[in-house]
Amino acid sequence: MTKITTENYVPEARKAIKNPVLQKALADLQNRFGRGTAECYRRLPEGPDLRLKAHEIRMKTIENLDVVLETLAANIRKNGGHVYFAKDSQAAVNYCLKVARQHQVKHVVKGKSMVSEEIGLNDALVDAGIEVSETDLGEYIIQLAAETPSHIIAPAIHKTRHDVGSLFAEKLDIPYEDDPPKLTWIARKALRQKFLAADMGTSGCNIACAETGHITTVSNEGNIRMSTTLPKVHMAFMGMERVAARLEDHDILLRLLCRGAAAQNMATYVSYIGGPRQADQADGPREFHLVILDNGRSRILADPEFREMLCCIRCAACLNVCPVYAKIGGHSYGYAYTGPVGAVVTPLLVGINRAKDLCQGETLCGACQVACAVNIDLPRMLLALREKLAEGDPAWQVNPADRKERLLWQAWSWIIRNRSVYDLALRLAAVGQKLMPQRNGMIRRLPPPVNGWTQGRDLKPLANQSFIRRWKKGL
Ligand code: SF4
Repeated sequence: MTKITTENYVPEARKAIKNPVLQKALADLQNRFGRGTAECYRRLPEGPDLRLKAHEIRMKTIENLDVVLETLAANIRKNGGHVYFAKDSQAAVNYCLKVARQHQVKHVVKGKSMVSEEIGLNDALVDAGIEVSETDLGEYIIQLAAETPSHIIAPAIHKTRHDVGSLFAEKLDIPYEDDPPKLTWIARKALRQKFLAADMGTSGCNIACAETGHITTVSNEGNIRMSTTLPKVHMAFMGMERVAARLEDHDILLRLLCRGAAAQNMATYVSYIGGPRQADQADGPREFHLVILDNGRSRILADPEFREMLCCIRCAACLNVCPVYAKIGGHSYGYAYTGPVGAVVTPLLVGINRAKDLCQGETLCGACQVACAVNIDLPRMLLALREKLAEGDPAWQVNPADRKERLLWQAWSWIIRNRSVYDLALRLAAVGQKLMPQRNGMIRRLPPPVNGWTQGRDLKPLANQSFIRRWKKGL
């Protein structure tokens, strides 16, 4: 099972903010991809409004998901593939292990897949005595470092070339090297052997198409194509929402996915897999399995307030513009999904109370929705999650905020709804703030219970006279 460490959000975020190397890497990432994606949307022949059309397409598919998935499964089976509907992580992992045992698999090569992170596939395979090799360069680095990805499409973004050089020297027993092309060549050489030795390949699925019965994977390294064609057995994992009903819809989503993910008109490698190798085909696996994972998605589907989240195609465009992700990086989110998408989907998958800091940590600035390839209203759902945390919700087993916090907010609500009380409170605060430590005209420390506000920043003091009082005096 994958480790869930959402409870560590605050300490991990504090650590990340103090890490200058990470801060630079995240700033570079946002400069490059965040801006590039917006430009890519603008250059679309249909303009950025294609995102709105994609949203409609996704919602329509999600609302008919049962029929669309049945069509996908039937078409893949017609092509000779196997389809397994896994209700949770354990079922998906068990199915993979069963197939691996049937084929006496000793070595698996993996294409990048967030669903396999979600279900903890690597650990399960290793525990079963099977060697697993990640083949995406970033994932390979992360695997050697025994870490988890910190970005959906750039998993090793937190590592410098010097880190990678030291890691390769230590783990691959080679002289230190930090030239990126040379490091890539070293990884390629090591991975070639793994591809040739593997008896099973796994991958994710960027988008499946029900009409044609195929899955599509995109990469810029060609590793997924090697993972899907060289080993004799291939198993792909997809969340049950990652499907388009028609080829026409699939193509729109594919174009937006590449733009949202890496500011590219199209990925370097796009592979379509619809079953095992046919008699007239030169390559491909002899056996093809598609695992369609629920793992809490049916519950999201059943709730009209959050159903829209299933439109997500995991392009990561929202991460590349999010001011919070830009400071705290991916590891703070404590689960496979990071950034604004993680702040909504993780609480829904692992428990809203358990992952409460994720949705409370976002700024609600709305940049994520503007960048989103399918225009998902993430800010609306962040607010809906916060409302559940404040009020409680038995349907989602959410316990309401603790009594102290509720009383505090109730008091605040009462104060701001009563003009005279509000004015009095402001006057008292303006006097009281003089007792607090100040420097350069800023308050350095607030007292409990609001001291958290000044732990990472100073606070501008209240003016001696409020605007209303000055207005009344005609100043
Ligand atoms: S929420 Fe939108 S931008 Fe973020 S990963 Fe999903 S589809 Fe991409």
